[in-house]
Amino acid sequence: MNLFLNEEANRCLLCKKPRCKEFCPISTPIPEIIELYREGKLNEAGEILFQNNPLSAVCAIVCPHEDQCAGHCIRGIKGEPIHFYEMEEEISKDYLNNVKFEKPVANRDRIAIIGGGPAGITIAFTLAKRGFKVTIFEAHEKIGGVLRYGIPEYRLPNTMVDKIAEKLQELGVQIRPNIMIGPVITLDRLFEDGYKSVFIGTGVWNAKKLNIKGETLGNVHYAIDYLKAPNVYNLGDTVCVIGAGNVAMDAARTAKRNGAKNVYVVYRKHFDQMTATKKEIEEAKEDNVEFKLFRAPVEILEDGIKVVKTENIEVDGRIQTKTLDGQEEIIPCDSTIIAVSQEPRSVIVSSTTRLETNKWGLVITDEEGHTTREGVFASGDVVTGAKTVVQAVAHAKHVADAMERYCEENK
Ligand SMILES: Cc1cc2nc3c(=O)[nH]c(=O)nc-3n(C[C@H](O)[C@H](O)[C@H](O)COP(=O)(O)OP(=O)(O)OC[C@H]3O[C@@H](n4cnc5c(N)ncnc54)[C@H](O)[C@@H]3O)c2cc1C
Repeated sequence: MNLFLNEEANRCLLCKKPRCKEFCPISTPIPEIIELYREGKLNEAGEILFQNNPLSAVCAIVCPHEDQCAGHCIRGIKGEPIHFYEMEEEISKDYLNNVKFEKPVANRDRIAIIGGGPAGITIAFTLAKRGFKVTIFEAHEKIGGVLRYGIPEYRLPNTMVDKIAEKLQELGVQIRPNIMIGPVITLDRLFEDGYKSVFIGTGVWNAKKLNIKGETLGNVHYAIDYLKAPNVYNLGDTVCVIGAGNVAMDAARTAKRNGAKNVYVVYRKHFDQMTATKKEIEEAKEDNVEFKLFRAPVEILEDGIKVVKTENIEVDGRIQTKTLDGQEEIIPCDSTIIAVSQEPRSVIVSSTTRLETNKWGLVITDEEGHTTREGVFASGDVVTGAKTVVQAVAHAKHVADAMERYCEENK
């Protein structure tokens, strides 16, 4: 057992009303797990974590802990919060490496899952264990969604996603890779082939445009595309990344690690206004990524980006960011990466009927994940817009229950 983590476990106050659990989107029973950790019952702890969250091993690494468990730990008020997520990582990794699932008798309905990201994986684990015949249809070569084709390898190793795929297959889940549902196989075809219920967990894979001149130039890329396969890009020595979320930090840090000498994150506001977590920003600084703040891009050129300077002003007690007319400059660079969020694709919706979306193209559902089309459920980013892994998993758990109820009520 890890000595540091043993000390951490002993430092935990095992609060009666644990704020760490309260602020965990999937209500991880943290004090209970820490008690088991103290007693050395790691396998039992791993089982509980997995039952509560089949992506516990992933969430332990990628969750924004500063906003969740660690950020609300009582110990953190006067000192260091408990590093529970490090215990969770150790326990959940060991569990996945050691457990061997028995294939359940699959004598219940046939379920189609479109999209093998965190939402689809959660539905697959939950329903396969309950005896449903589950098939995942995945547009990419392998399942994992953003875990594999977005979050860089240095933050989350692909071997962990491989392990999760292996566990799904032990439970009898069938995976059809390289198949984009919509253009060839439609929702209607799935129902014709006897799938009782269909889950859509296709995420948000279209980059949002900046809508400025120069966006189609050959040295301009979208972060969501770049992060899929950074090795195939030749970005040159100096790279500008436009954006201020975690995706921008991932793109900037990846470009640096892949050989760019200078990487600038260009943002029109201040550090405090960035959506990236403090941890991600600090780690980007440690990687020598530089920040050019209070600059709004107005045009992308072949050899740089034209920006106009901005400032924060207070209007009616609220901070607003205003451009400073005439104060333009050019930041020279060899290539530009745009990271200003993502939106869903419309291939499924446009190839079927009665599946409604809102004005952002997100699939409309009720709280249980029912879409406007009978038998079709959805959750994850394709419903909520870009969020987090743990939020996708937490909601998908409830949707799996609703899908089971639907199958039972429609025999
Ligand atoms: C670069 C990046 C870094 C991030 N970092 C973090 C982080 O550190 N921590 C965190 O908590 N969250 C992070 N997120 C957000 C998080 O990864 C997402 O909220 C989460 O993955 C959403 O899960 P999902 O299952 O809804 O969608 P996705 O992970 O997007 O998975 C959807 C899957 O559906 C497939 N698909 C799409 N259309 C079709 C189709 N028509 N047919 C078949 N398959 C299809 C896709 O190929 C994909 O595999 C990050 C996101 C990005 C982009």
